[in-house]
Amino acid sequence: MKLDATDLRYITSDEFRVLTAVEMGSKNHEVVPSPLIVQISGLRNGGVNKILGVLAKRNLIAKVQNAKYDGYRLTYGGYDYLAMRALSKRDSMYSVGNQIGVGKESDIYIVADLEGKEMVLKLHRLGRVSFRAIKEKRDYMGKRKSASWMYMSRLAAQKEWAFMKVLYEHDFPVPRPIDQARHCILMEFIDAYPLRQIDEVPSPGKLYSQLMDIIVRFAQAGLIHGDFNEFNILIRSESGEPVVIDFPQMVSTSHENAEWYFNRDVECIRTFFRRRFRYESAIYPRLKSTLNENGEAGIKLDVIVEASGFGRREMRVLEEVRQTSRTRRSC
Ligand code: ADP
Ligand code: MG
Repeated sequence: MKLDATDLRYITSDEFRVLTAVEMGSKNHEVVPSPLIVQISGLRNGGVNKILGVLAKRNLIAKVQNAKYDGYRLTYGGYDYLAMRALSKRDSMYSVGNQIGVGKESDIYIVADLEGKEMVLKLHRLGRVSFRAIKEKRDYMGKRKSASWMYMSRLAAQKEWAFMKVLYEHDFPVPRPIDQARHCILMEFIDAYPLRQIDEVPSPGKLYSQLMDIIVRFAQAGLIHGDFNEFNILIRSESGEPVVIDFPQMVSTSHENAEWYFNRDVECIRTFFRRRFRYESAIYPRLKSTLNENGEAGIKLDVIVEASGFGRREMRVLEEVRQTSRTRRSC
């Protein structure tokens, strides 16, 4: 999907009110009835109807003809718009450039601030795949069920933000987190290529141990990346140093399947190095030897993240959704 940020700042205050009203109404309604939009926006009836037409034309909302009643829903475009507007109001970003990545669960854009400094905007798209299966399986959301794609995408962004911040603050090689709004994360642009695209490195052995060291450092800090593979490791163009990205699936070393996640991360790297660089080492880390005799990590970043507001409950919701919907894995 193409982001339309041409008139990011330009929207009348009434249009903004109505768009926000549709977002608010979406929390309890899959299709927000027009009278409710009027009520939330606090504007005149006739005025609102006209504005709804304008917003629908700009694809920020979509008209839905329901069996029970007619109304509107917020589109991805509308949600993107609200998030980018919030970021731009705070002067965190100013313009949108090219899309550099499209995954099943996110879109990645190059954006810039007022001075033209490039950054990366990651828009989470959880629930793009199929929410029906999850909805049928269990009612996670309670009343929020109807807004699940928005809610889940926001949760994923909040989780990634919480982890990226704590990792950056503890000197892990991750992009600098800049700002977060709704389902979006703004971060430092890394001038790099994903390891996936690299055919040759000066010393595979050196890179291998750097990567294993990162896995070990994560575990010593109470964390497992959970998706540590050649897609989520960037190699800096200038120095060849690795940078790790993509954190919505991080788990704590106290997770019941911690060892399995840890071994999978290690195995991904081993397999990739064997295939790509014909490099194999007898040395690789085990979770047990990175933790102390009580099976605990030295620093507990998992606990710090939990205290920062991204709690256990949110973590569990995301995890269960992933188990239902996730299919893309490189190894
Ligand atoms: P996804 O959840 O879709 O896998 P990622 O966070 O892994 O999203 O990002 C997808 C791709 O976007 C990466 O493989 C990388 O090429 C690019 N990318 C992501 N973040 C950055 C960044 N901070 N700097 C440069 N490129 C990035
Ligand atoms: Mg990724």
